[in-house]
This record gives sequence, C-alpha cells and structure tokens, in this order.
Amino acid sequence: MNEGLGLILKAMRFSAEKHNDQRRRDSKSSPYINHPIQVAETLWSVGGVRDEALLAAAILHDTIEDTDATPEEIRREFGEDVLGLVLEVTDDKSLPKEIRKQLQIETASHKSLRAKQLKLADKLCNIHDITRFPPADWSLKRKQEYLLWSEKVVKGLRGSNPELEARYDEELREGKRLLGMG
Ligand code: NDP
Ligand code: ZN
Repeated sequence: MNEGLGLILKAMRFSAEKHNDQRRRDSKSSPYINHPIQVAETLWSVGGVRDEALLAAAILHDTIEDTDATPEEIRREFGEDVLGLVLEVTDDKSLPKEIRKQLQIETASHKSLRAKQLKLADKLCNIHDITRFPPADWSLKRKQEYLLWSEKVVKGLRGSNPELEARYDEELREGKRLLGMG
C-alpha cells in the first residue's frame, strides 16, 4: 500500500468528522459526507484521475467553506499542495451570495487544470442531485436557474478533462429534460 492511499483515508476520516452534524438538502437529509465521496469517486471513475492529492482535495473540498476546518489545519494535516487545491474551490463566504455566484463564473477559466477537474466533478454531481434528489423547498424555477448558472461556470472549466465534460453535458441534457427545459 502506498502513501497516497493513506492520504485519501485520512482525508475521509477528517472530512467525515468535520461534516458529522451536517446533512445534504435532499428530502432524505442524506449525510453530507456522501457528496464529497461522490465527487472524489467521479474524478476517479469518470475522469480517470489518479492524482492522490487531487482525490484527497475532492474529499475535503467543502470543509473550509462549510465547517469549522481552517486552512492551517488542512496545511498541517495534508500539506501545502492539498490546501492549495481546496482553497482554489472554496468560495469566500464573507461575500454576498450573488457576488460569489458571479465570481465562480468569472474565475473558472483562471483556475489550475487540477482545480478545474474538481469543479467539473462537483458541478456534475450537484446537477445530478438537484434534478434527482432536490432540496424539498426548491421551486422548479430555482432548479432551472441552478442548471443555467452551472453551465456558465463550466464554460470556463472546459479543456481540462474531456470525459468529465462529456458526463457533465449528459447530466445537463438529462437534467434539462427532467425539468422541462427542452
Ligand atoms: P445554492 O448555492 O443555495 O444551493 C446549491 C448548493 O447546495 C449546491 O451547489 C450544493 O453545494 C449544495 N447542496 C446541498 N444539498 C444539495 C442537494 N440535495 N442537491 C444539490 N445541491 C445541494 O443555490 P443557488 O443559490 O445557486 O440557487 C440556484 C439559483 O436559484 C440561483 O441562480 C439563484 O439566483 C436562484 N434562487 C432562487 C430562489 C427562489 O426561487 N426562491 C432563492 C435563491 C436563489 P456544495 O457542493 O457546496 O455542497
Ligand atoms: Zn461540493
């Protein structure tokens, strides 16, 4: 067994503990950790990603944004490379939501190749969830708007991983059909 597997298992343990009390917003209130695991597994199985630091960062990708995890903690436990990747996909929560959404569109194309792949996997998992297991209180309009917004972000992520892009396109097409968007 190699060092990389140890890093990934440690990331799973850390992320599970940090997200312990959180739930996704689907009707079953699934454990939050399902999502980062899904994103990492999508990178591996769809995107063919074998970069262990990137897979660990995928498992940790929402910890700084959504839990009390700090950059210092991630640096200490996982090192500078993993921290850099997590920070690249972390929104600045001190900004208003509309600004954050706009910034994701504007900054996508400037991200590193590795962060672009992580963002692609995250967006494709989220549009899958929003169309199949949506937050119970979301209107049809809100779901449709999320799909259209994700499309603008993904425009800046293209050219980083053809398989993830093709899977995103499939999810988007099927999601639009399910939401009656033609
Ligand atoms: P949010 O950012 O509020 O919510 C989406 C995020 O929630 C996802 O990116 C995901 O983030 C997380 N999430 C948690 N549970 C789920 C789940 N079951 N399925 C999918 N995602 C989940 O969404 P937006 O603010 O982007 O809203 C979408 C659009 O709707 C926007 O264009 C906005 O303008 C509009 N809007 C409409 C409203 C209304 O109609 N009432 C109110 C507010 C906004 P992560 O990967 O980080 O976990
Ligand atoms: Zn996410």
